[in-house]
Amino acid sequence: MAVPHYSQLIDGQWHDTGETYTIHSPATDEVVATVAKAGVADVDRAVAAAKAAHAAGTWRNSSPADRAAVLDAAAASLAARADELAFLQSRENGATLRITSALHLGLGIAQLQYVAQLAREYEFESDGPEIGPIPADGVLRREPLGVVAAIVPWNIPLLTTVWKIAPALAAGNTVVLKPDEHAPLLPLEMARALHEAGLPAGVLNVIVGDGEPVGAHLASHPDVRKVAFTGSTVVGKSILGSSADTLKRVTLELGGKGPNIILDDADLDVAVDGALFACYANNGEACEAGTRLIIPAARKEEIIERLVDRGRTLVVGDPTDVATTIGPLITREQQQRVLRYIADAKAAGARIALGGGIPSGEQFTKGNWVEPTIIADVTNLDPIARDEVFGPVLVVLTYDTVDEAIAIANDTNYGLSAGVWGADEARTLDVARQLEAGMVYVNDWHVIHPAYPFGGYKQSGLGREGGPDSLDEYTEQKYISINRSASLA
Ligand code: NAD
Repeated sequence: MAVPHYSQLIDGQWHDTGETYTIHSPATDEVVATVAKAGVADVDRAVAAAKAAHAAGTWRNSSPADRAAVLDAAAASLAARADELAFLQSRENGATLRITSALHLGLGIAQLQYVAQLAREYEFESDGPEIGPIPADGVLRREPLGVVAAIVPWNIPLLTTVWKIAPALAAGNTVVLKPDEHAPLLPLEMARALHEAGLPAGVLNVIVGDGEPVGAHLASHPDVRKVAFTGSTVVGKSILGSSADTLKRVTLELGGKGPNIILDDADLDVAVDGALFACYANNGEACEAGTRLIIPAARKEEIIERLVDRGRTLVVGDPTDVATTIGPLITREQQQRVLRYIADAKAAGARIALGGGIPSGEQFTKGNWVEPTIIADVTNLDPIARDEVFGPVLVVLTYDTVDEAIAIANDTNYGLSAGVWGADEARTLDVARQLEAGMVYVNDWHVIHPAYPFGGYKQSGLGREGGPDSLDEYTEQKYISINRSASLA
């Protein structure tokens, strides 16, 4: 199979930079694609193109319906290629075909269509309100911000891109997108689809470069009005810091350490499978994964035994095979980091109830594999229970009272996702209301819907993506007051 090459997109032109990344399959090490590698000069060119396109005004002055039509056309073109692109995504970042089909492509396309619909309905301009006796004649407007920088990670590249550039474009902004250097192909395919759907030159620019210096240069560029970022908490904090100089608007989607509480009346057949899905979907490389399972102390051994039994049935292997449930991790470095966390926990006295190493077999001598792992006999203060491991590692914690379970759940710097399993809806809702997280799943997990806002409490981020307010995050409010009655003379 010929290895495809991807160029960067600046001012409507695809071109190369003289340097390339080689993208390797994390399952087999084989070469999947080559991609033009950007430097800081490319950032400056891309931002200049976006700034000029904004100043030219063609896009921001186009009708919302016309902008929505471009998004819809791009969604249709991605949908027509969904199987091919899901396969490509699985080869590139190791997420399984089931997940890339349903989550990466399925939800990515649905989100694009949802934002197109929002754009058609959005009140970009309305009459000023009447507020009692105070005259408020005039108009209220929502105007685009200008140049938006979108910086996305490798784990769910298409959806994290759509969350940013769809509302940015729908609101009339121009964009510089920087995909992660390990998995840039789907964001580039999406840019191609938008470009072919009629986006004017310079409205969307895509450069693929290292986080440092390229991402950092983009995030701190004085001509960028907003940075929308998904990635690690440490980089998110540095972006927030560098935004201060020019007071950029910032949206941050960062890490998580999702607590997942099983109440004593939960249907264990459902809850045990749900707990494995919560943690292992997308190979455990999901910011909103349920990685801390919090179970009644009285049923500890019974639940761990069930988890291990069901965990043994998971299929680790070729991510492009639809029978596979867990694929490889993105890089060798990430694999080694995850294995180190497991080894450190073991050395500190934890019990490795399932997995804990590299699976055995010829196919696992290449690629970056980690077995689905379950770790017990740890406390919520141990690093394995506090840090985001970003791999297929489930930590089991126990509680005696529901209040204690809630306290353990909330004892974290993160607050992205949380879950609760139980038979009594009023009781599960009562627990859900007390969990400090942007998304709480009752008797389920990974319920990411275009119309639900996605984002976190505490150090999991700032702002929300998706949901009905998506365009608010990409517009400035303005009122124009008009004195229609009084004479100023
Ligand atoms: P990362 O922060 O290292 O990289 C994310 C992106 O930022 C990449 O494009 C990278 O090139 C860029 N980057 C790196 N350093 C930068 C810098 N100094 N300035 C500007 N850009 C920089 O994160 P990662 O390890 O690639 O991704 C995994 C992380 O992303 C996890 O912590 C995960 O929880 C988080 N994540 C969060 C969400 C969410 O919505 N909350 C979704 C997916 C992933």
